Amino acid sequence: MKETAQILKEKGLKVTPQRIAVYNMLLNTTEHPNAETIYKALEPTNPTMSLATVYKTLDYFKQLGLVQELNVGEGSSRYDAVVKCHPHTVCVQCGKVQDLYLDELTEIHKKVEDELDFQVNCEQLILYGVCGNCRRKNKEG
Ligand code: ZN
Ligand code: MN
Repeated sequence: MKETAQILKEKGLKVTPQRIAVYNMLLNTTEHPNAETIYKALEPTNPTMSLATVYKTLDYFKQLGLVQELNVGEGSSRYDAVVKCHPHTVCVQCGKVQDLYLDELTEIHKKVEDELDFQVNCEQLILYGVCGNCRRKNKEG
C-alpha cells in the first residue's frame, strides 16, 4: 500500500502530520466516524489539532475524492475512506454504521437498465434497523 503522505501529495495537498493522522484513521477503521469522533480519537496524539481543522481536512479530502461523506440522517456526516459506492446498515439505537456488500445489487442494476433503459453508476442505499448488540441488550432489559 502507498504511503499516506505520498497519496496526499499526489492529490496536490500539502502534507501535514494532522492530515496524515486523519486519513490514516479513516483508512484503518470500519466505524464510519463523524468529525467529532475523529477529533476525539486523535486528540491524545495530536493535542494541537482543533475540531475546525478536522472539519476543514475532511472537506479537502472529500473534494479530492479521498473520502466519501455519508448522511445517515444524523445531525453530522459520517466519513468513509472507501469511496466506491456501497450500501450501509445503520442501527437506529446506537448509531453503528456498517458496510454491506450485496451481490444482488448487480442484478437490480441490470433490471433497472432493462426496464427503465437507465444505466446505474452508483446507489446510496441505507438499511435502517437494530444491530445484534442492541437487540441483545434490549432483551436483557
Ligand atoms: Zn446498535
Ligand atoms: Mn462504508
